[in-house]
Amino acid sequence: MASFSSLSRLTGCKRKAVFGTVMSRFRGKSDALTFGTAFHSSLEKGLDSGIAELRREHMHDSIPLLTEMWKRQTVFMADQGIEILEHELPFEITLPGLTEPFRGFIDGLAMWRDEVWLLEFKTARYIDASHVAIDSQVTSYLWACRETGLCEPKGVLYFINQKSMDKPPVVLASGHLSTAKNQGCSYDAYVQKAIEIYGDTPPAKVELFMEWLEQNEQPKLVMAAVKRTESQLDSFGEMVKEYVAEEQALKQALEEKGASVVIREQKCFPTGFCMKSCDYGFACKAMLLDDAIEFDKLDEQKFGEIFGA
Ligand code: SF4
Repeated sequence: MASFSSLSRLTGCKRKAVFGTVMSRFRGKSDALTFGTAFHSSLEKGLDSGIAELRREHMHDSIPLLTEMWKRQTVFMADQGIEILEHELPFEITLPGLTEPFRGFIDGLAMWRDEVWLLEFKTARYIDASHVAIDSQVTSYLWACRETGLCEPKGVLYFINQKSMDKPPVVLASGHLSTAKNQGCSYDAYVQKAIEIYGDTPPAKVELFMEWLEQNEQPKLVMAAVKRTESQLDSFGEMVKEYVAEEQALKQALEEKGASVVIREQKCFPTGFCMKSCDYGFACKAMLLDDAIEFDKLDEQKFGEIFGA
């Protein structure tokens, strides 16, 4: 099945893309992936559903974080007047001359300011929305809506919710509130604590710090409302056709020639940087040092023996 994530693998190192297909069965689900699934589930079916997902994967320690992020997201959307109409919209597009369709899921559909928008929920350690204006995933959703007639959204409401909890304000041994700029608490939490300790008359130093915090507090959730032009959707569609055809050809080659041959056929350009950042750097290195590795004959035991997993 061709999807946005499977096609995006083809935009980089081709050998890495084939490794991704061949080795994926040896890779367990990461905690980050489980957390992302739990977060989406909590937004679609309620917090209990997300918590159950974490419990199933023995990630009990992440329950407070999920709870805080779910609350942050739902409160933010209510404040913005965003009304969710549907969750998880599947789509499938058959491309001319190709047997593999392009498939995907859109996180949701909502009404905002009397207009229909698609929803995309992301979680991230650090908030950086600078890519959203050109992000291809956004383009893929809007292109899919146009091609299938699924709906006619204005654009995509793209949310990034920071994967971190609010820290409480630091109270010094003297009983006073700290005014250290790196204590990492929210403005609201700080003001609440200041009222608890000082009532309506906080010391001037604390009052000054509150002003600074109000102006400099980093958001824990950002929303970008993004649109695409018709010509951007057209060129995305052209690109998808090329990548789906390429993916289809690679899968066919894997069936006909086997993984060992196809992996070696993909040209690669290993560097220190890509070896460190690539999920299959270990396999790539082992293969480059030992030409005899048979990727078609790998089972759990052989995989462990060769790659020390
Ligand atoms: S380590 Fe580098 S060259 Fe090797 S598969 Fe990964 S990205 Fe490609």
